[in-house]
Amino acid sequence: MSKENVAASEEEQSYLQESFISIVAEVKHNIRDTNFACIIPGFLQKKLAVELGKYLLCENRIGGDSCESCTSWVGESHPDFIVIGSPDKAPGIKECMSLWEEISLSPVVSNRRVAFLLGCDKLSLPAANSLLKLTEETPGEGVVALLMEEEKILPTLRSRLHIFRFKSPLPKAFENIPKSKEDFLKWLKSASKMENNEILLVLSGWVSALMGNGEFRKAANLEAVRVLVEKYNVPKEMLEDLLYAELWEGYSLEFLSDVLW
Ligand SMILES: [Zn+2]
Repeated sequence: MSKENVAASEEEQSYLQESFISIVAEVKHNIRDTNFACIIPGFLQKKLAVELGKYLLCENRIGGDSCESCTSWVGESHPDFIVIGSPDKAPGIKECMSLWEEISLSPVVSNRRVAFLLGCDKLSLPAANSLLKLTEETPGEGVVALLMEEEKILPTLRSRLHIFRFKSPLPKAFENIPKSKEDFLKWLKSASKMENNEILLVLSGWVSALMGNGEFRKAANLEAVRVLVEKYNVPKEMLEDLLYAELWEGYSLEFLSDVLW
């Protein structure tokens, strides 16, 4: 792997980390005793389950403190924490049907039992149907959470769950296109210290922000600049000129697409 690739993946890692922290905070903020679903990449599902399990089982609703429940965690296991399925393989109908009983058992150390189901975008129809009653009237103080990579969920099941979505790994700051020439010049100053990879990420953020605003032509032009930077080692001064021309002089960069494609 080249040095640049390593740098890019490290950056991606930190954005993933930020997005992970924000979905955890969002769930904690909105969930009291309701069942919920999270749309989140497969490789983060177990991690999310453990993080939220700690919070939901904590006597003080903090997680990671010194209450009896928090001190009963051994790695990723806890006597009142149930995880079934995996990101690649949803729980089968038998596992789903036995959940009712599992959650109804008296909690061992916490004041409730919680169940996380992984890979729920791959649930079979009978398995999904078998969860209807459980999600409608969960026994005791139990909480049921369905984690899935894609938002594929029976409408009847969806209506019983609060849904949280993992945000795109690009941080918000990268979607802020400089509003004035002054801001742009400020950005250029900071960009002079950036690696090309970072600049590419910023440009991706701007492109998606422009698309979101319906400014498709501008988005396409900026995308052309981004591809140019990605394909060729564009000197920073040239990149600055290109961006400046596109953003502030309304100069059409459509000719770029002829060069690129
Ligand atoms: Zn605790």
